[in-house]
Amino acid sequence: MRFNLKSMIPEHIAELTPYSSARDEYEGSGSVFLDANELPDAFPGMPPGVNRYPGKEPGELRKKLSAIKEVDQEQIFLGNGSDEIIDLLMRCFCRPGKDQVMVFPPTFGMYSVRARVNSLQVVSVNLEQDFRINPEKVFQSVTPATRMMFICHPNNPTGNTQTRESIIRLLEDFNGIVVVDEAYIDFCPEKSLLPLVQNYPNLVVLQTFSKAFGLAGARVGAAYASGEIIGVMQKISFPYNLGTPAIMLAEKALNSHAIYKMNIRRIIAGRDQLADAIKKLPLTEMVYPSDANFLLVKTGEADAVCSHLAKNGIVVRNRSREPGCSGCLRITVGTEEENRHLLKAWAAFDPAGMEKDIRDNLAMTEQTESPCQAEKPDHGMQTKIRQATVRRQTSETDITIRIHLEGTGYADISTGIPFFDHMLEQIARHGMMDLEVAASGDLEVDPHHTIEDTAISLGKALREALGEKKGIERYGFELPMDESQARVLADLGGRSYLKWDVPFSGLQIGEIPATLFKHFFRSFSESAACNLHIHATGEDDHHMVEAVFKAFARTLKRAVAKNNTDAMPSTKGIL
Ligand code: PMP
Repeated sequence: MRFNLKSMIPEHIAELTPYSSARDEYEGSGSVFLDANELPDAFPGMPPGVNRYPGKEPGELRKKLSAIKEVDQEQIFLGNGSDEIIDLLMRCFCRPGKDQVMVFPPTFGMYSVRARVNSLQVVSVNLEQDFRINPEKVFQSVTPATRMMFICHPNNPTGNTQTRESIIRLLEDFNGIVVVDEAYIDFCPEKSLLPLVQNYPNLVVLQTFSKAFGLAGARVGAAYASGEIIGVMQKISFPYNLGTPAIMLAEKALNSHAIYKMNIRRIIAGRDQLADAIKKLPLTEMVYPSDANFLLVKTGEADAVCSHLAKNGIVVRNRSREPGCSGCLRITVGTEEENRHLLKAWAAFDPAGMEKDIRDNLAMTEQTESPCQAEKPDHGMQTKIRQATVRRQTSETDITIRIHLEGTGYADISTGIPFFDHMLEQIARHGMMDLEVAASGDLEVDPHHTIEDTAISLGKALREALGEKKGIERYGFELPMDESQARVLADLGGRSYLKWDVPFSGLQIGEIPATLFKHFFRSFSESAACNLHIHATGEDDHHMVEAVFKAFARTLKRAVAKNNTDAMPSTKGIL
């Protein structure tokens, strides 16, 4: 490796004196800032501090990322989306009108667009048929003017990742900067090349808050590289490239790890189900394997399918004119409802009407490039999926719960109290609902707050998931188990009441004080607005409480079940 960063910095950048504000130059601890022509106060109701320009450094965000990503703070650059960083890298290291940028189509179009904006020549080396980079072909096309290459990993629109070996080969033998764009890496984190920034001075890894962190609207992206590369980027970037609200949202997203994880699991499960279902649809020829939150689907007639979906209010990305992607649509994984809507609309596609569809679509794509636009959006969804994600934070606990009433009994429970986890698992398994619970509480004090707040959050999640409650059975009861017997009666009618008749013989069950179980169900009944009558008998407290949770699960299962009507289960007409 003969990489020499200094030789990569164009003269006009090396010689530049960066912009500096009075506040950057001030070293004291002043509190009266009359230097930047700002308003002294924010408007009422606005986030505090937005009347001021952000500090030059989004310090706290950088600090958090540094700890999570295990890189020095000096190795992080934060940008107004990765898009800004892509452009900035070219301005830092390429000479307009002289240098070249290499891309590997089919890939993210922004690399070529920003290269052209910066008057740089684009050298394209197409991916192989399996969408892999062929390093031999790359090196045949590299010239002394090739300063930078962009590897999209996982690749947009094909969804595949490159092998670690091939990227390392490029890092070792290419004498310029290798940008690895990991916009979708959260969906396959084990394939991230971020740790390699410590070994390769020519590697820049890009990540973003726009995908798995759900913040596409906030515009926050990050580059990780050597301190020297980041230093050049800092030198020429806009002094306040990230707005205060964007910084605040990104910090908040980083503090929502449980929701982040739950979303990734949900999207990956949805993606795999969607892929299986699309394979069976008319005109599908192939669904490519994906490591991202979208699928590339090869169809017999991309234009016609795209146009048909558009008429049903569904916008997908037509990639059929990209190299190696003939007939291909790129489809983002949506909610379960959105995915179902897509499948239903596609399944209704009538190839007999195809010729008209193609004509319509061609007329449309002549006016605007893809994505296909909807003519008459029809957002009428079929059956609503009943699910909810709830986060509740107090000074004592931080609880995130996702519940999915039409689930399969999947449970991922982590409260720090193993016996309680085991009980909550019963709710998922025997209630045939998916339940994910991530709770962190002040267990160093005792389990009380964690159990109570989990119950409140669970009740809230159930209530939200039930929505209007139309068509539910409302009541339910069951009587299971062994020498112990538990009967749980519930009414999801909207009022709260707990009748508790469970005479435990001991003071402690597992690591939990026995009285906390009553407290759990009371908190749940209040927060879910639900009447609960719980009665149990038995000799063994562990059996009794387990029977109660199982019966509770069965009861909930029955009470939330839909009865094929849209009727409100009350003579009052509301619940
Ligand atoms: N890289 C890739 C591969 C992308 O697909 C996208 C957006 N579609 C981006 C970067 C842009 O990310 P950001 O929103 O952070 O600008």
